[in-house]
Amino acid sequence: MLSAARHIDEIARRVRRAGGALLFLDFDGTLAEIATTPESARMSARTRRALKACVARYRVAVISGRALADVRRKVGMRTVAYVGGHGTEYSIGRLRGVSGLPAALRASLRDAARRFLPLCKEYPGLRIERKPSSVSVHYRRLEPRALRSFARIARRLCTDIAAEGSLRIMFGKRVLEFMPAIGFGKGHAVGLLRRELDPRRTLPVIYIGDDTTDEEAFRALPREITVRVGVRRSSAARYVLRRRADVDLLLERLATL
Ligand SMILES: [Mg+2]
Repeated sequence: MLSAARHIDEIARRVRRAGGALLFLDFDGTLAEIATTPESARMSARTRRALKACVARYRVAVISGRALADVRRKVGMRTVAYVGGHGTEYSIGRLRGVSGLPAALRASLRDAARRFLPLCKEYPGLRIERKPSSVSVHYRRLEPRALRSFARIARRLCTDIAAEGSLRIMFGKRVLEFMPAIGFGKGHAVGLLRRELDPRRTLPVIYIGDDTTDEEAFRALPREITVRVGVRRSSAARYVLRRRADVDLLLERLATL
């Protein structure tokens, strides 16, 4: 992977040549530092300023695993397009919707949440979050001592759930995400956004994300400007930014093009 910081002029040239870009951004770990609880994550004043400047200049979308209403509240900018629940809920200009899940998938999600719920007593700090089309199991606040035994139990549950075939599991940063096995995800979301925001495909896409779920989006955008936050041995992204704070620098530069 190439350093986005070192290749910033190349990125800038491509955007200038096209006369703009679509800017797709993940939230947690990209626009905001990862926080101990999902509620406490927020953008810094600097990030907010840089993002606002980009919003004035580009079509911007924030794509998150959070519920749509939640991510929209966190960002709070009206002209931004929002995709929540890893692509299952969206608000893109006047286009709003929920990709309704079939009842069987909703039941599988409910069932996945139920299997983890009893662990909350045994593991204080464990949090099961039910979203419209996914379930997150947050284990960031677990005592380090409890992690190993939790991991053992979680692995077993994940194997069982995966074997049933209707859900897939994403292993994020101290979070397990259960979502429908097909037809959703951030890769699906970028397709939808592009169709809505740039139907003739004249603009390059800049996608910045930090986690496993973003890899699908990177793969769905093989010729675009994809940026992974945090160094990884393998990623489908073209560029890498070492630290979350480097995102601010990139946004600031894009805002001045
Ligand atoms: Mg993230």
